[in-house]
This record gives sequence, C-alpha cells and structure tokens, in this order.
Amino acid sequence: MCPPVENAPVNGTQTNGHTNGTVNGSHPGFSGISTPHNPHPHKSSPYHPVGDFLSNVSRFKIIESTLREGEQFANAYFDLDAKIKIAKALDEFGVDYIELTSPAASEQSRRDCEAICKLGLKAKILTHVRCHLEDAKIAVETGVDGLDVVIGTSSYLREHSHGKDMTYIKNTALEVIEFVKSKGKEIRFSSEDSFRSDLVDLLSIYSAVDKVGVNRVGIADTVGCASPRQVYDLVRTLRGVVSCDIETHFHNDSGCAIANAYCALEAGATHVDTSVLGIGERNGITPLGGLMARMIVADRDYVLSKYNVKKLKEVEELVADLVEVNIPFNNYITGFCAFTHKAGIHAKAILNNPSTYEIISPADFGMSRYVHFASRLTGWNAIKSRADQLGLNMTDAQYKQCTAKVKAMADVKKITLDDTDDIIRRFHHNINNEEEKPLLPNLTEEEHAKFLQAEQELNGEKEKRQLDATADAEAAVPAAKKTKTVAVS
Ligand SMILES: [Zn+2]
Repeated sequence: MCPPVENAPVNGTQTNGHTNGTVNGSHPGFSGISTPHNPHPHKSSPYHPVGDFLSNVSRFKIIESTLREGEQFANAYFDLDAKIKIAKALDEFGVDYIELTSPAASEQSRRDCEAICKLGLKAKILTHVRCHLEDAKIAVETGVDGLDVVIGTSSYLREHSHGKDMTYIKNTALEVIEFVKSKGKEIRFSSEDSFRSDLVDLLSIYSAVDKVGVNRVGIADTVGCASPRQVYDLVRTLRGVVSCDIETHFHNDSGCAIANAYCALEAGATHVDTSVLGIGERNGITPLGGLMARMIVADRDYVLSKYNVKKLKEVEELVADLVEVNIPFNNYITGFCAFTHKAGIHAKAILNNPSTYEIISPADFGMSRYVHFASRLTGWNAIKSRADQLGLNMTDAQYKQCTAKVKAMADVKKITLDDTDDIIRRFHHNINNEEEKPLLPNLTEEEHAKFLQAEQELNGEKEKRQLDATADAEAAVPAAKKTKTVAVS
C-alpha cells in the first residue's frame, strides 16, 4: 500500500514500515553468567556472538549526561527551564539515569539540581562531583539518588592538574564513598583519563573501592584515545577484579565512541554514558541515538522493551534547538538521508523486501523510508511505485520507457521531484492520447537536443545489453560460466 500523493514526503517515495532484525525466542547458543548485578541473561539476536559469557549487550543501562557532559559543549547554555524540558524528554525516552552538573559548580547549578530532583521522574538522578568530601556533602543535600565521583589518575593529570599521588587518591575515595553510603545514596567511583593511567594503579584503586561496597566503578576515555580492542582488554581485566557494576564514558575525538561503548558491554561493562547528539567537551561523547542504532541491531527485543525509541527525534530536535545546531545529514536514525535509498538496484530490492538494504527498521523509530527516484540512478521499480502514488497505471514496458526518459532527462540537468512527476504524468498522457507533448515545459532548445541524444544513447546501450544477453544465452558454454547481463532499467 502506498500513502496518498499529497502525504508523500518531499524527496521521494515513502514506503510502509516493516519489521526486520531479530526474531523472538531465546538464542540457544548464548548463555551469560548471572551475577548479583546482572541477574538476567539472554536476549536473542542472530547477529550476537555465540558463547559470549561476559557480554552485557542484552542488559545494559544508560546514564544520560546531556545535562552534565552536554553542558560542557561549546554552544550549550541551559537555564532551569531548558534543563527541565530536557530531563522530562529523557525520562519519557526511558533512560535509566540522568546525570547533572555538580551542585558545587555554582549556586544556580545547585538550585537546578534540587529542582530536577523534585520533578519525580522515573529515571534516577545523579550528579557528577569531584572526589572531595566537601563537594559530596553539598551533593547529598540536593535530593539526588546518587553521586558519580571522579578523579584524574593519569600521570598527566596527577602532575599537571590536581598534583595528588595514588595513596592520597585512594584514601580520599574511601572516605567519600563511606560518607555517601552512610547517607543512603548510590555511589560510583571513576578514574579520569583511564586509558592513559597505570594499569596497576587503576586495578588497585578499583579493587579497594569495590571492597567497601561502591555501586559502580567507572572507566573514562576522557581524551578519546582508546580503540575498541583496548577498551575490551581493559574492561575484561577489570571485570575479573571487581564484582560491582562497571560504567563507561567514551569521548569521540578519534571516532570510536559508539564502537568503544559496544565493546565495553561485550567485555562485561554494565552502564554506558551518553548525551543527546553526542554533545560534550570538544566533539563530545557516545551519542544516545548512535548507541540506540548500534544496540537495536544487537538486541532489538531488549531495546524496544526498555526504551521509547520513537521519542528519539523529538529529544534530538529539542536539544539541537536549545544549543542552536542542525541535526547532521548523516546522523544515526534521524539524519535526513538515514533511510533514503537511491540506486535503482537498491530501490528495487527495498520495494520487494526492505531487509535487503536496511539493518534497522525506520518504523521502530517512527521514521519513514524514502525511495529517491528523481535521479539518473533510478530504476523502473521506483518509477512504477511513484506512478502508483500518482494514480497512473501503465504496462511494465511503458514504465520502463518512462524510466528511460527520466534517466535521460537527469543526464541533461538536475531534476527535482516535481520534474519527475511532470515527466511521468506527461508520458502517461502522451501514450493514452497518442500525443507528443514535451515531457518538461520550458526546456531550452539545447536541453531538448541533449535530451534526445541522451535518450538515443540510453536506448542504444540497452539494445547492446539485450544482444549480449541473447548471445550469452545461446553460447555453448556451461550455464554457470555464462556472463549475466542485467538491464537495470
Ligand atoms: Zn567526558
């Protein structure tokens, strides 16, 4: 079924959504280790590696940091009203946690933090504070559910930022953790710049905080230097040292933020930090939408059961407006061409079965698929589909002739959707009335001449292909070795 023409999207043919990706039921080859922190293994996916005992790909949680990391984005300035809008939108989306800027940062930050805690959202509210007792004391008074404490552990930060040694860091961490726990709050302890920290130092401090009952330890690729393999190795090693949950935070300086988050989950991490559109320091962190794209391919059942992904576009538009940026054309899921199919061969297959060229169903996200047919790369299936939308019926041979005219015209000039509709309508009119009206009005003589030539060349090429195909079919060679020539149009 096609939608009525007046509802058709501006850049192509909209087709109905479909269901692709995973199947229901359990995956017999997959079993996860059940731990007190992750007591619910296996969701199914044909793309999931089999026998991956550490993987939390099917039971991860999101710590959404648009209101903390995102506040560090160059363009961001969120007043309380904006923060409340974002927090409510993220809550409707279903994120597990919302992380806020430290209330110790400024008096207004503290008031904002208190106001968001009073909203009564389903998501737990965290605030991100330095590993200082004074900061922790201010934070617990705001009504947050938990604290994410952080301290730099790399030699760079120890020498050039806070100037403290590992013994001092460990003692302070234990003191802060004990205090926060005594107030009945969740607590995460994270190193900063973890991938440039000494592994022995890291494991020793994580082991110490785990023993005193920290809820999560955090790994942060603060400078965006880590590769997926490094992430896998570090998280897997850490998984063997601590029994608490493992939170991960990846910057995107070298383009690995989503891949790193995924690998961390495969290695046993439990929580991923995200921000809407990835906004944050420099070029930001793992984007919420990009992570959803990655995770829905891995475990569609889990993602759809937990997150209201149809809200993604709305959340992204809200944040994009507030920080005054456009949503990138190639954005995951919501980029304007994320579900646009252009090449004739792709369009034909997509119209037959969308799974041929789509790993993610646009319908899952409330998005639409487009078949782009106003180009020289179009094929007759796409033109037929568009003619159906315009309410015009022709024979297959006529659709093919009409397609040749669209392609020839697109060789002469850039054609718009309206141009293509005009060509289809006038072609249809001409064949039914035995007329030869020009297919496009206002063509110059030069353009018209070029069009006739392009059409001639296209027909010549087509005849040559048909002759080749006939010759191949008649040639006395084994069938498997025959040259297969397929006419695209
Ligand atoms: Zn960060």
